[in-house]
Amino acid sequence: MKDETSFAIKEDEKQQQMIKKDLKKRILKLLKEPENRRCSECYSKKRKPKWMALIKAPIDANTETLGVFCCNNCYLYHEQLGPDLCTVKSLKTSEECT
Ligand SMILES: [Zn+2]
Repeated sequence: MKDETSFAIKEDEKQQQMIKKDLKKRILKLLKEPENRRCSECYSKKRKPKWMALIKAPIDANTETLGVFCCNNCYLYHEQLGPDLCTVKSLKTSEECT
């Protein structure tokens, strides 16, 4: 019984790592898009987006979370929404998480 459980956990960890890797790839790809090279809040070209805000706001049936990139200045507004509405992640951390 014990062995079966630990095996299941290992498989789960593997899957989580794969999800993380995939997510990193997707984020890096998104950051290369011209419209993501600036902050989605203030549209400043001088301040590069350093943060990713995941807003829990259903836009349509297919979208549950809206992800936006924002600068060092604007991420604070998203953080103020609180963890129930918005998760703010540093892009640096997301790159390091693999
Ligand atoms: Zn901004």
